[in-house]
Amino acid sequence: MSGADFLSLAAPGIDRLRPYVPGKPMEELERELGLSETLKLASNENPLGPSPLGLEAARASLDGINLYPDDNGFRLKNRLSARLGVAPERIILGAGSSDVIDMVARTFLAPGRNAVFSQYSFAMYPIYTTAAGAEGRVAPALPPDHPEMPYGHDLEAMRALVDGDTRVVFIANPNNPTGTWLERAALADFLASLPGHLVVVLDEAYTEYVEAPEFPDGIAWLERFPNLIVTRTFSKIYGLAGLRVGYGVASAALVGTIGRVRHPFNVSVPALAAAEAALEDRAFLEESRRVNREGLAQLAAAFDQMGLKHIPSVGNFVTFELPGEAAPVYDALLRKGVIVRPVANYGLPRHLRVTVGRPEENERFLEALREVLA
Ligand SMILES: *Cc1c(COP(=O)(O)O)cnc(C)c1O
Repeated sequence: MSGADFLSLAAPGIDRLRPYVPGKPMEELERELGLSETLKLASNENPLGPSPLGLEAARASLDGINLYPDDNGFRLKNRLSARLGVAPERIILGAGSSDVIDMVARTFLAPGRNAVFSQYSFAMYPIYTTAAGAEGRVAPALPPDHPEMPYGHDLEAMRALVDGDTRVVFIANPNNPTGTWLERAALADFLASLPGHLVVVLDEAYTEYVEAPEFPDGIAWLERFPNLIVTRTFSKIYGLAGLRVGYGVASAALVGTIGRVRHPFNVSVPALAAAEAALEDRAFLEESRRVNREGLAQLAAAFDQMGLKHIPSVGNFVTFELPGEAAPVYDALLRKGVIVRPVANYGLPRHLRVTVGRPEENERFLEALREVLA
């Protein structure tokens, strides 16, 4: 057997997939350009490091890693249950929340079915959809000159794409990479307008950062909308991206159904231990929110001062527009040791996304950007 064309052998849809493009790792940049002291503001990681309580618990758990983790995640589910006010049977754990989102896709999508999501939304939605052999239907986002939410989800356009073969609707609130968000009333009306033959994934990866009063808590809707699953993560504000742990909350029936495709022991021993502890780390959360709030203001003021348009964001990142193509600016920033995130693969070739860092990190990025644009 030689030279098999594996793409032609692959399941339908795989040939149309492009792998997810992660933020460039600092080590890679340092290796390639011989730089040291690089700054990565590319993957919406917490610039304050991991939750100290989470880190300590992860370390303490390592003596037990000869054993498989608790497959049911009993302790973490109980802590989440107490915190969120939902029964443990309504919680499913994942190796990151993307694992939970993938479980929904693998459970409900197949050739002949479709999933609906917005333009400029999370890059994994089309990947999971296509990997399941289903059709991804992309609803045009609100226009760049929209007065309230430029580049935001257009719920009417999304609703219009739903048909009898739709099985999943993906909504990120707030959305990545735009940082835009949906208000409680508008999102509730949208959910109420959907038929019962599909599942809505409400992806709340950044919810802990949002302080706007009209910002909804998806978990409060679970009784009203039994086909809703809300996903959250320990990767962002809790600072545990490297451990891979997140969760979904839904009806017990929906959790049981997607649990059929879950990989065994999908959340590791240190990840479970860290998440349990980080959940109680209120001081770290408060500090992370404060640093982010001030960093968003610092970046917005600087972009305004530089005359650069930026999408108003409630996440821990900002997507800003350059006068021309973003790729050369991205490269020039790399050569100065600053890693941000190109978003051309999201259909935004003139934009870059920067993660909010500590004040001095934001300043270093801004200084590099000023030099590059000068
Ligand atoms: C970061 C992110 C996630 C989840 O990441 P995990 O590390 O897998 O939990 C999910 N959705 C969006 C929109 C994100 O930006």
